[in-house]
Amino acid sequence: MTYRVLVTDEIDAEGVAILSAEPELVVDEMPTLPKEELLERIVDYDAIVGRSATRISADLLEKARRMKVVGRAGVGVDNIALETATSLGIAVINAPAGNTIAVVELFFGAVISLLRHIPRAASSMQAGKWDRSSLLGSELKGRTLGIIGLGRIGGEVAARARAFGMNVVAYDPYIAQSRFDALRVQEAKSLETLLEQSDILTVHTPLTDETTGMIAKRELARLPQRSIVVNMARGGIVDESALLEALARKHLSGAVVDAYEKEPLAADHPLRTQPGVLLTPHIGASTTEAQRNVAVDVCIAVRDALLSGELSRSINVADVGGQWAEVEPALTLTRRAAAVGRAILATQGTRAVQRVDVRSGAALVGARSALLASAARGLLEGTVEQERLNLINARSVAAARGIDLSTTETSTQENPYGIEVRLSGGMQEIAIAGTAQPGALPRLTRIGAFHVDIQPRDTLLILTNNDVPGVIGRVGTLLGEAGVNIAEYHQARLAQGGQALAAVSVDGDVSEAIRESLLRLPDVSSAAVVCFHSG
Ligand code: NAD
Repeated sequence: MTYRVLVTDEIDAEGVAILSAEPELVVDEMPTLPKEELLERIVDYDAIVGRSATRISADLLEKARRMKVVGRAGVGVDNIALETATSLGIAVINAPAGNTIAVVELFFGAVISLLRHIPRAASSMQAGKWDRSSLLGSELKGRTLGIIGLGRIGGEVAARARAFGMNVVAYDPYIAQSRFDALRVQEAKSLETLLEQSDILTVHTPLTDETTGMIAKRELARLPQRSIVVNMARGGIVDESALLEALARKHLSGAVVDAYEKEPLAADHPLRTQPGVLLTPHIGASTTEAQRNVAVDVCIAVRDALLSGELSRSINVADVGGQWAEVEPALTLTRRAAAVGRAILATQGTRAVQRVDVRSGAALVGARSALLASAARGLLEGTVEQERLNLINARSVAAARGIDLSTTETSTQENPYGIEVRLSGGMQEIAIAGTAQPGALPRLTRIGAFHVDIQPRDTLLILTNNDVPGVIGRVGTLLGEAGVNIAEYHQARLAQGGQALAAVSVDGDVSEAIRESLLRLPDVSSAAVVCFHSG
């Protein structure tokens, strides 16, 4: 199987080389294409990797019938129609970490430039002057830096600020105390306490409902007199008109801005001429190293998504809450358990499943929503016209069909890697349970009330029969004569002479004709065939 990848927007060569090195990937590098031309060409591609110059619109995604992955070398995905991608099951992958250091170094460069009047000094020199007296600056040492958002960038800013001899205080209600301790940063329990002590205030959060306008008139007023405000994160976190007003009345002595409410910043925007302000045109990530890092990061993730189906880097797939490799067996088990449940319900006359509930052990709590997506996928596979049904869109496809999806916590005593998928529809309900230890093949441990121990691989046959002598032999003979090889045969019963269940794992396919022959055997009351070849 080969995949075609379109690389555009001049992605760094080191990233492209990662894709080209794979024999299964055919890589075409093209300059940023006009919309019409891209629309024409996109139908041939399984993936596209670009930067912000190429707009990945909804109509483009709808036309791209083969598309599986959109890679963005950088952080922002504003140029990608994310909702359409999600509904079509197309993974969207970005590279959020590669430009951290570029932003951090710009932070110190810009703040020191402001404190030491470097832009003014340089232009006065260019103008032939020797104007030292008006260029008296100030130092970082001994000042308090207030950081909002102690994530990747905030954390690296903190570490370097300490090296400059600054006092560092941070406010980030979403991270653990241990990160503050590890970075040796004082934790501000509220935004107000942070503001009151910050000589230099810097924001390093994403732009969310909560952070939009987070630093506005009231917050700026809480800062000490003559403090400095920095926004290198996203335009709109610091309210621009409130910032201008605080600068104009000299409550603030300066500001550094790299990200704006509206970009590009209007040529006549008052920030451009406000004294004490140092502006840069959103160049936080603009270093050769950052461009290379993001290209490498995104190309590795796109390669892995195409070749091994690893979606942990996809921003539109539910968080797996840990390492992909640790959770993958659980995702497989959940998907297969749902397929088994659906097949059994169908033998009982229920084809329309209305509810899916996934219970998972303590080790899988973080992966709950991904597990639910996997159960929805296993349930819907083979029943919906959805070429690209996958972890990305399975939940929304299920919800659109009116299927209720839920998760339930299991008690802490239970197997930490245990999973139970419960399906119900009409008056019927079935629960399928199993275990998915990292590094081991997943096993089914219960089908309805029957305890089993079987690996759900290739094809699984589930038979119910009367517990009488000879059934196993007859089933084995029939399958043998049909050329079907049995890998595992697990017979379970609730009580001697009552109902029994056989879970038979076989290699290859089992046709409808074989299933019907099994049903005609004496004492066999139901036969379901579940085929797992596709994944
Ligand atoms: P990150 O996700 O690693 O860190 C963000 C932090 O903000 C997290 O720790 C989170 O807990 C915290 N946070 C979220 N909401 C908060 C709130 N209401 N109050 C306090 N803290 C909150 O992100 P990052 O990689 O460090 O990036 C930070 C920002 O920098 C992002 O907005 C990113 O888009 C921006 N950025 C800008 C440039 C540029 O060119 N100027 C380049 C890269 C990143």
